[in-house]
Amino acid sequence: MSRSVTVIGLGPMGQAMAGAFLDKGYEVTVWNRTPSRADALVARGAHLAASPEQALRANELVILSLIDYDAMYGTLKGAEDAVAGRVLVNLSSDTPEKARAAARWVSELGGTHLTGGVLSPPPTIGSPDMSTFYSGPREAFDRHLPALEVITGKTDYRGEDPGLAALMYQLNMVVFWPAIFAYWQAVALAGAHGISASEIAPYVTHNFAGMGQFIDFYAPRIDAGNHGGDVDRISMGVASMEHVVHTNADAGVDAAFPRAVLDAFRKAEEAGHGGDSTSRLVPLLRETA
Ligand code: NDP
Repeated sequence: MSRSVTVIGLGPMGQAMAGAFLDKGYEVTVWNRTPSRADALVARGAHLAASPEQALRANELVILSLIDYDAMYGTLKGAEDAVAGRVLVNLSSDTPEKARAAARWVSELGGTHLTGGVLSPPPTIGSPDMSTFYSGPREAFDRHLPALEVITGKTDYRGEDPGLAALMYQLNMVVFWPAIFAYWQAVALAGAHGISASEIAPYVTHNFAGMGQFIDFYAPRIDAGNHGGDVDRISMGVASMEHVVHTNADAGVDAAFPRAVLDAFRKAEEAGHGGDSTSRLVPLLRETA
């Protein structure tokens, strides 16, 4: 297997990936819309391609690390002929449907598309403990596994459907962004009372660390369709979220985010589910979409 790779897209992620390949002795070709972002990598021995086409032609294995899939179409416009025979490992995040459409597009051009969803932030790229979802043709995944394991030591191949890796990534984002937003909300509220982010950090960390217990408790009940109100009830959630909304509003902190949660609880209560567990929201969310 050739120890030679192209990386297109040099944001923090692409730079970290190209750097990890250099660390492992790979011959690395890079391209980025803003060429100066390649400077440090070129100083370490990477080759800067003059065009996306040249970057594609340099290697069979091409890593894409762009802001989204539309940036891929923009970048590869005019270089379509060079896609044939290449394995494009797309580590840009986007929707499962965009990943499926991209796989068809690459295939029609004679190339192979592997979808990836990286769960690690840039400083942990290259770490043996971090993991990335992949989906798409198994043969291409297996053949390039040694190179993919340079990016993150662990890989989680989800199957042939190119949308699955994107879906698994998005499932993580569905949790990550609201969770970190909830943290920002708490810091803003604490700050309105003169309490610093550092002061509440241990309590928030403790709160997040305990979430696993809730997930372990709810998951089998949800899978069994059990939304009994024996441990928590939607009407309790309504009352509790009203306190959260008012505590924020009273302090002059924007309460739009907690209000959205309150609205969802209220809707469930109005539909007659006040005595059910808050997990009743799972089927309700699907019904009301
Ligand atoms: P950035 O947004 O910093 O970098 C995006 C890259 O896309 C840059 O190379 C940028 O080029 C390029 N780009 C943006 N718009 C266009 C365009 N219209 N045409 C061509 N190129 C374009 O993202 P990151 O490096 O942080 O992340 C890359 C991907 O990895 C994203 O999809 C992100 O969601 C995902 N990801 C990021 C993580 C993180 O912690 N940062 C963690 C896990 C996944 P230029 O330099 O010219 O602007």
